[in-house]
Amino acid sequence: MRILALATGLLGLALLGVPLALLIVLGLRFQIETMPRVGLERQLFKQRRLNFGSGRLGILANRLGLSRLPDCVSLIRGHLTLVGPRPISPGSPLAATESRTSVRPGLVSPFAVRQRAHIAYQPEDVVDTEYIATRSALGDLGLLLRALVARVHGSAETSNLARVEIDGIGVDNLTLDGAVSRIVQFLDGSQTRLVTFVNADCINLAARHPRYRRVLRFSDLVLGDGVGVRIFSRLVGEPLRENVNGTDLFPRLCGALEATSHSVYLLGAAPGVTGAVATWIQSRYPQCRIAGFQNGYFNASEEAEVVEDIRRSGATLLLVAFGAPAQEVWLREHLASSGARVGIGVGGLFDFYSGRIARAPMWMREAGLEWAFRLSREPRRLFWRYGPGNVEFIVRALAAAFRKRQHASHAPRGAH
Ligand code: UDP
Repeated sequence: MRILALATGLLGLALLGVPLALLIVLGLRFQIETMPRVGLERQLFKQRRLNFGSGRLGILANRLGLSRLPDCVSLIRGHLTLVGPRPISPGSPLAATESRTSVRPGLVSPFAVRQRAHIAYQPEDVVDTEYIATRSALGDLGLLLRALVARVHGSAETSNLARVEIDGIGVDNLTLDGAVSRIVQFLDGSQTRLVTFVNADCINLAARHPRYRRVLRFSDLVLGDGVGVRIFSRLVGEPLRENVNGTDLFPRLCGALEATSHSVYLLGAAPGVTGAVATWIQSRYPQCRIAGFQNGYFNASEEAEVVEDIRRSGATLLLVAFGAPAQEVWLREHLASSGARVGIGVGGLFDFYSGRIARAPMWMREAGLEWAFRLSREPRRLFWRYGPGNVEFIVRALAAAFRKRQHASHAPRGAH
């Protein structure tokens, strides 16, 4: 890694040095900003940045990444390496983390990769500690690769809008923790609320099923799940804040329920699956109340009985896993009569937590490839969804981005 860092530093100096020299000849001016940093074994070093101001040449220089040219020198001198915890100032609370200074700070940090992929659900010190305990040269190379991939599908900036339109469906622009708080607020309220997750496949489905589309529009909370909706949101210039998927939300929701008097009913999936999920919940969140569970394979004549069972259980939260759009349509129809206050369609979630289906490893999630993992596990069932379906979705996203540009270019000057 040290040799690779040295080579990258030298290459970076050559690649960035030439355009910088050219722009200086054309009149670019800059200032050098110096920031004290804690390095390996707590040794202090100075990280420098070039500040080009906001002129035309300055903007170009920033776009070319020239402001980070001094990092190449830090790589050569060994103050920085390619992959490691983010370089921090001596005053940062993170400086107190003991293990952090046992490794060199890195240009690419594991936390930053997750941030760019919008899956930084854990605090930075937890991610760093886990990285330091498990780091290897191969792992670092993988992280570098994922950092490059995340640059393509992720974004450093996120939209300030409360809801972002994804092909006509308003998706709530929340973080995972924000979504959990909102669900708990709903549970404490007096109205019946429907919560839905939408991924790329759901957006494709909504375009074909007017009923499902109406249910999504009627939902009180629509959460953007997966890399597809993120790419869409980015293409239309309003990047969503976080990948809010059911699988990552579920344990947090169980944790939040422990502090409340609410109880959950699990409905859906094959026989035996919800029972295994209930066991999973009880072993990890013993204070989380499970009102009941039931598999998702019943016929129309048994429906009233199922709804009555939920009502009798007194559950305030109903999780339904029939897959989209069946679960959302079912919830729209039966949530009120089930007596539950909040209903959430959770898709294949129970299959993951029962251990029936494995979840993609972290490196695939960071690279935005969770869908590829699922496809590899169930190629027959999921081929149409993730093969032609992904292509269809990208076409939708590109068309929406095109329409947005057209609209912006036809808007009167000065209008936003
Ligand atoms: N399922 C069900 N009843 C049915 C059909 C499907 O309970 O009549 C369950 C199925 O066992 C699976 C879930 O619905 O657990 C659908 O999972 P899928 O992977 O399709 O959902 P996704 O998360 O991809 O939307």
